[in-house]
Amino acid sequence: MDTEQPHRSYITTVLSCRCPRCREGMLFKNSVSFRINRNMEMFERCIICGQPTDIEVGFYYGTSYISYLIAVVISTVTFLLWWLIIGFSFTDNRFFYWISFNALFLIAMQPWLMRFSRSLWISWFVRYDPEWKGKQPENYEGSIKTK
Ligand SMILES: [Zn+2]
Repeated sequence: MDTEQPHRSYITTVLSCRCPRCREGMLFKNSVSFRINRNMEMFERCIICGQPTDIEVGFYYGTSYISYLIAVVISTVTFLLWWLIIGFSFTDNRFFYWISFNALFLIAMQPWLMRFSRSLWISWFVRYDPEWKGKQPENYEGSIKTK
């Protein structure tokens, strides 16, 4: 018999910035904010299952590349949509309107983008554990927070 509890999908877990191990606890302490320090404040451990969020020193170093890559993807999408809906022309400023729109859009997305990159990053290192309720999280030797 299948005893597995219903749980969030991988995609909604990553998009809503939740702990990848239990898919329940939130990774960040505050709601999305333009005050970057407040925005990026994370729980040291998942408040639901105890999974450390900072697995090793400099764990999130690589996330700046991810947010950069996502920004490139977003720009490509807005470029294509602009091209389809509004169009580009060399005789007016539509191209520059797109550049301005895209820049503002990326700035507006930034707080969420930085969080999403971390959420995505940790989801590649910590697997979902259907039995998280009865088990302690794995001990990460490099973690400064598990001491
Ligand atoms: Zn958790």
